[in-house]
Amino acid sequence: MIIVMRRGATHEQVEEITDRLKQEGFSVHLSEGVEKTIVGAIGDRSRLESLALEAYPAVDKVVPILRPYKLAGREFHPEDTVIEIGPHKIGGDQVHVMAGPCAVESREQILQTARAVKAAGATILRGGAFKPRTSPYSFQGLEEKGLQLLAEARDETGLLIVTEVVDPRNVELVSNYADILQIGARNMQNFFLLREVAKTGRPVMLKRGPSATYEEWIMAAEYVMAGGNYNVMFCERGIRTFETYTRNTLDLCAVPVLKQLSHLPVVVDPSHGTGRWNLVQTMSVAAVAAGADALIVEVHPDPSKALSDGPQSLTLENFDGLMQDLRQVVKLSGRHI
Ligand code: PEP
Ligand code: MN
Repeated sequence: MIIVMRRGATHEQVEEITDRLKQEGFSVHLSEGVEKTIVGAIGDRSRLESLALEAYPAVDKVVPILRPYKLAGREFHPEDTVIEIGPHKIGGDQVHVMAGPCAVESREQILQTARAVKAAGATILRGGAFKPRTSPYSFQGLEEKGLQLLAEARDETGLLIVTEVVDPRNVELVSNYADILQIGARNMQNFFLLREVAKTGRPVMLKRGPSATYEEWIMAAEYVMAGGNYNVMFCERGIRTFETYTRNTLDLCAVPVLKQLSHLPVVVDPSHGTGRWNLVQTMSVAAVAAGADALIVEVHPDPSKALSDGPQSLTLENFDGLMQDLRQVVKLSGRHI
């Protein structure tokens, strides 16, 4: 349930309500907006009805939350969530570009890429150290060595790091290095992993499962938030459809839909979404025009030699060209890069 407080309700009046709810065994989440304070109460709905909260003069109305997600939904939290990470804010006026190779392969490869994407205007370096590959015979990542190389690239360039964690047993290790923990598409509904990343408090980028509905995806975010970590962003990376020309079908509709249903930032991954490097630029521009808060793009110094996802990776030069195009469309949408 949502308890909407009257405009001008004092701190004490809000506290009176939250104390009462807690005494009655509800878990309470406060959303203090500029205009109004909203109290979210999660617990037994029938008990809430018997509390007669409307009788308090500072309470405007009590509204049931109809959707299965409460913390991730806009009903309870009407204002956009802005995630602060170091000097950056994701979900505000700045459109962030996360860029880097699919997998960290060597010191030279990651440092060269980091320097180039930084110079082109990226703010966050991507790179997989643990790779969830479809085949057990494919390159599985450099693991901790890869994380160390990412950290070295961060130290040199000032870029933040986003990297995937695939196993609940590695969450602590990865969160010692990463600024953003990536949950891969294949793990979107790995609820044990979601609970573990929630505990770290680190921002989480939750990729959409290849066959997940919007509701299932938002419920996965709800898991992380119910674990006490509200720093969650979605990442649309394409879904499985009957079309085989592209690797996946990038569902850009997800951007406005998620913005309506949820207050969390939305990232788009045009690399996995298309699987083809020559579609990445067009779909990046379209994603930003649709309202995406950030992009995550695969970039490799020599895509033809990449150990994973070469066909969808941009060269350093092509990435620079993409950033120049993006600057124009971002400006049109009243934001900046
Ligand atoms: C990746 O980002 O390299 C990756 C494996 O992505 P996804 O989980 O979307 O397939
Ligand atoms: Mn990849």
